[in-house]
Amino acid sequence: MVANPSSSTSARFREARNRKARERLERALPAIFPAIVLRHALGRPFVPPLPRLAVDGYWRAHPLRAERLARALAARSGAPPGWRWTIADGSGEAAATGLPLSFRTPPAPYREKAFALGKGHCCVCGQEVYRFGWHRDLWGTGPNRNAEWHAACVTAWRLWNAPGDEVALLKRRQKHRCVSAGKRLLRNAEVDHKLPLFKLWREHRDVEWPRLLGFWGLPNLQVINRNVHAQKCAQEARSRRVQERNPRVAVPLLPTVRDLLEALEAASAGWGAQHLGKNGASPQ
Ligand SMILES: [Zn+2]
Repeated sequence: MVANPSSSTSARFREARNRKARERLERALPAIFPAIVLRHALGRPFVPPLPRLAVDGYWRAHPLRAERLARALAARSGAPPGWRWTIADGSGEAAATGLPLSFRTPPAPYREKAFALGKGHCCVCGQEVYRFGWHRDLWGTGPNRNAEWHAACVTAWRLWNAPGDEVALLKRRQKHRCVSAGKRLLRNAEVDHKLPLFKLWREHRDVEWPRLLGFWGLPNLQVINRNVHAQKCAQEARSRRVQERNPRVAVPLLPTVRDLLEALEAASAGWGAQHLGKNGASPQ
């Protein structure tokens, strides 16, 4: 077999580039650095040249872990007193208050101007942010006063707002089966919220924060084939119209909410203590 000259050129280019990136990374690394992040960085096809890029890359590669961590961190903060899930009337109010414009945006009290904790705290979960956007002070240097996001919470926020970007990962978790029809997931399968967000907003908006966030996260996400999704959306639109005409119609999805919350709690039990505690240097 004849070697492809362009692929061997690009392999040489990559090797040279990675050698330089490794040297830069090693020079910039502090004495203490999460081992799991370093291992991940050194195993990348393109090694990140800076510790902060290594941390970002680690969480980007593990979005489900990141969103679980974000919810566990938010559970430590709890909702600020007096906060309620509210959305802005229009873009003017959204700009002035930091309120979300739609119920599709995950509620985040610490992103709102009235409850913001300022630099050094994460605007998603409310906990302190340390070096490299890390969630624990491994260096004993206190909060990073220039940061307002944990690296993990950036990834979690992206997943909550655009779960369709992770369709391949979610398909793998479902072993490529449509949860609704049991058939093989097709190429055009779509990510769906088991409990639709409009239902959550209309009927269950008083679920306490941050448990609310679970409805944007893994516990409420599923991949279904496009035809099944279209049927589900049509059914939801019908039930929405019925409810609009008669707001006193019984709420049929309450058991779903309860089931989801119970599943969420069972999955989270012990996770926070194990991964956020004193010995939890590993972010896994
Ligand atoms: Zn955070």
